[in-house]
Amino acid sequence: MGDKEQLMSDECLESSKNVVRKQPAAKVPWYFANGFLLFWGLLFFAVVIPRMYKLPQANTMEDAKKGVFIAERAYKNLYHLANIGPKVTGTEENEVQALNFILKELEAIKAASLQDLFDIEIEVAQSSGAWVRGTYLNMYQGVQNIVVKFSTKNSTSETYLLVNSHFDSGPGSPGAADAGCMVVTMLEVLRVMSTTRQRFDHPIIFLLNGGEELGLHGGHAFMTTHRYAKYCKAVINLEAAGSGGKEVLFQSGPRHAWLMKYYKKFAKHPLATAMAEEIYQSGIIPSNTDFTTFSKYMPGFDFAQFINGYVYHTKYDALDRIPRESLQNTGDNILSIVRGMANATELYDTAAYKSGTTVFFDFLGLTLVQYPLATAKNLNFGVAAAAVLLVFISMWRMSSMSEVTICNVIVRFILVLVLQLVSFVLSLALPVAVAYVFDMFGMSLTYYSTPWLMICLYVCPILCSASY
Ligand SMILES: [Zn+2]
Repeated sequence: MGDKEQLMSDECLESSKNVVRKQPAAKVPWYFANGFLLFWGLLFFAVVIPRMYKLPQANTMEDAKKGVFIAERAYKNLYHLANIGPKVTGTEENEVQALNFILKELEAIKAASLQDLFDIEIEVAQSSGAWVRGTYLNMYQGVQNIVVKFSTKNSTSETYLLVNSHFDSGPGSPGAADAGCMVVTMLEVLRVMSTTRQRFDHPIIFLLNGGEELGLHGGHAFMTTHRYAKYCKAVINLEAAGSGGKEVLFQSGPRHAWLMKYYKKFAKHPLATAMAEEIYQSGIIPSNTDFTTFSKYMPGFDFAQFINGYVYHTKYDALDRIPRESLQNTGDNILSIVRGMANATELYDTAAYKSGTTVFFDFLGLTLVQYPLATAKNLNFGVAAAAVLLVFISMWRMSSMSEVTICNVIVRFILVLVLQLVSFVLSLALPVAVAYVFDMFGMSLTYYSTPWLMICLYVCPILCSASY
């Protein structure tokens, strides 16, 4: 080594000795980590869960003059409808008893309506047809739908709003929730609107269809054979995959962002999530609603009750699981949304308002948040880029504040990253393994009626992998 090099090396050594190294900041006490976790846990149980189950007070007949949805009246109808028992398409219960009960109610609503202001047409439509579903031909004959056209007197509008639900039920199920509660909600909405002096632009078709469960026949029959079908420009579909509680907006569109504007404005108790839409439309859940048929012809909303999903399509889908408050929640929302949509100018030319996909979710049931998919992508990429940048800044900071070189920090970081990836894969694999074992012994969904069992069965394996 030459003198010059020796000199430079000495200078480097000297300067490195003179660098004032900052002392690393004092570590946060260990219990802060648990406190942080506890805070979010408490917030979830103290705010999110109670708000999820919070229902409005049920209106009684004493409120009948206020032009509001009366849960007591809807409940009385549900009592009669559920007591008929299972109403499978083709049975006497479906084609005679349920049909006659609904028709009797409709005639009473028509008789009590403001006939100087509104027109109500009631008809029973019988149709036959067929459609291809996957690899088989789905045929039906003589399926009965009750079609009610409700319009402001002398209306000449040729754009209608369709509101649909079904009164048939799955085999063995009284169908109190699926979709009895939605049928009585529709009856009550019609009753309130037809007795309130509030005009609306677009005629409303209340379609009470008699065949959904066995292959979406009623909805298909209406769309392919009924004279009013071509005028329907938007749909509100009402369903159930559970019983009691709130109804969730789990599908909207497709590709009609303006619909969410109406939901945000008119839903009294918003509960919506685009995540449910993604899961449902991915095909993971082997189920369909009439919305599948309608959405081929027009945009709209698909609502469903979903709490206590274990009663779905079983004999336990009975009246005693549906509190009046649950009917009030759905009724408040649907009455308001139907009123809003029946005046929507977008209905005159829905094609002109076709847009991209919307991301939507409610915030604690207080308000609805929505933005276009493009914004969601920018937001997600932005957050991801900021996170990566922060990781590098953090590594640089670690090395600058300690004796450790940046190389060492990076090596350590890669090691931690690999460990994280392994624990991520494990946290996916372990719950799948547990589910596989349960399936193997014919015990699928055994946790369904006792949701907290999921914590032991699935959350614990995830936590074990995460702590690995
Ligand atoms: Zn259903």
